[in-house]
Amino acid sequence: MDKQTIIWWIRRDLRLNDNQALSAAAAYGGHVIPLFILDPALWQSRYVGSKRIAFLLAGLRLLDADLRQRGGRLIVRRGDPLVELSAVLRSTGATAVFAEEDVSPYARQRDARVAAALPLKLFAGLTVHAPGLVRKQDGDPYTVFTPFSKAWKALAPPQETDILAAPARIVVPEDVTSVPIPEEPRLPDTVPFEAGEAAAQTLLASFVSGDHPPVFRYAEQRNQLDLAGTSMLSPYLRFGMMSPRQTAVAALQSVERAPHNEARKGAGTWLNELIWREFYMNILYHFPHVRRGSFRPQYDHIEWENDSVQLRAWQTGQTGYPVIDAAMRQLGEMGWMHNRARMITASFLVKDLLVDWRLGEEWFMKHLVDGDPAANNGGWQWTAGVGTDAAPYFRIFNPILQSKKFDPHGVYIRRWLPELANVPDQAIHEPWEMSLAVQRAAGCVIGRDYPAPIIDRRETRERTLARYQAVSS
Ligand code: FAD
Repeated sequence: MDKQTIIWWIRRDLRLNDNQALSAAAAYGGHVIPLFILDPALWQSRYVGSKRIAFLLAGLRLLDADLRQRGGRLIVRRGDPLVELSAVLRSTGATAVFAEEDVSPYARQRDARVAAALPLKLFAGLTVHAPGLVRKQDGDPYTVFTPFSKAWKALAPPQETDILAAPARIVVPEDVTSVPIPEEPRLPDTVPFEAGEAAAQTLLASFVSGDHPPVFRYAEQRNQLDLAGTSMLSPYLRFGMMSPRQTAVAALQSVERAPHNEARKGAGTWLNELIWREFYMNILYHFPHVRRGSFRPQYDHIEWENDSVQLRAWQTGQTGYPVIDAAMRQLGEMGWMHNRARMITASFLVKDLLVDWRLGEEWFMKHLVDGDPAANNGGWQWTAGVGTDAAPYFRIFNPILQSKKFDPHGVYIRRWLPELANVPDQAIHEPWEMSLAVQRAAGCVIGRDYPAPIIDRRETRERTLARYQAVSS
């Protein structure tokens, strides 16, 4: 192969290991220009918030450090991607731009615009099986998870030998100019995720390694709000600080080496969650209209209440329903929320408060470090009962029963709602049921220290069912 200069255009693949675009660029043996473009269109989007940007910026700093260890450095530019790529191509004599494929409508339009003008080559890596590859026999896309997952598993499984090592040396031409990586925003101390590939590798290893790894207990623990039973890898998968292929290999190996059925079930369930991620990537890829509206368009005509005071109470964790408020405060502080809590809070917003799911989707996107257009949209549409494979619209999560089941002693609630710290266990899920004397003894008077419930759920259920029925065919 001729030595050539290739631009490695980094978007959501902030890693040197198992990076197909980077490895292909390095294989030419010439200069590689690792380029990240600060795109104002994304920066200013109403779906973007400071915690996710801070995590990304921290990841860029670490990527730069990793590149420097290999003789390279990160080039950062600010502006329209087509303009910046053209300028770097012109000034360096690079012959091609290599990047990892992305599925969001914005990314695809951007890439199509770039590909029409420049030699852009896209590589797999965002998912194990490239978007669009897992299809029904007649070529149609799947819209239900279980058959999708069966077809996904029927394809050649990823192997440890597929995982690409980071290139030993990355040589960047000296005269390429770069702007500094912005210093702000910084991750607040309340966000427990350390950015970067090394942190992601440590987290994955701690989840799957050893004789009794958490992945073996995943099936029984993943729904417990009071336990740390999940991998917490989502921010790293979001920005490609961890390769989805390496993660899937780890899950498959865990299934293989599981010593008993329960452990095998744990690892198998975790693999399924990774496949859910790929399922929603495929949904967004095949049905880009879901980014703005319901997968089933009749549900775009639901008459929502959209009460701004109630929406604000939900956003700030002041609804008077402890499990909802704990989860929303967890989101606000950590930039992450437990999956079970995402389902309960989403159901409450849409099915109890009758607020358009898109307002919840936007709030989550703004605050989640792992905010991902495909997974977040899929999760909201599923919970709202308007999407693919959706929960039937008449399924409405009962936050009190959910709370009793998945946080029986109120450990999760007390962690995020200090005002309920001394509320007795039997009242923690419904503190308004306490007598005034007990409220006083617990230092938590309802309406003073903690809000009374903002709605009476017995009344809202019928209203919601009627609104959904009105548009169901
Ligand atoms: P684990 O349980 O360890 O799972 C491993 C990985 O599998 C996750 O990191 C994630 O990449 C993937 N995954 C797990 N569950 C799902 C799922 N249901 N759908 C898609 N991928 C999944 N996930 C995001 O990554 N970004 C989002 O913006 C997002 N928004 C959501 C919104 C709602 C309303 C709901 C119900 C779910 C959402 N999810 C989202 C899915 C899920 O809640 C998170 O992926 C999970 O909580 C992340 O924690 P973890 O890394 O410990 O997951």
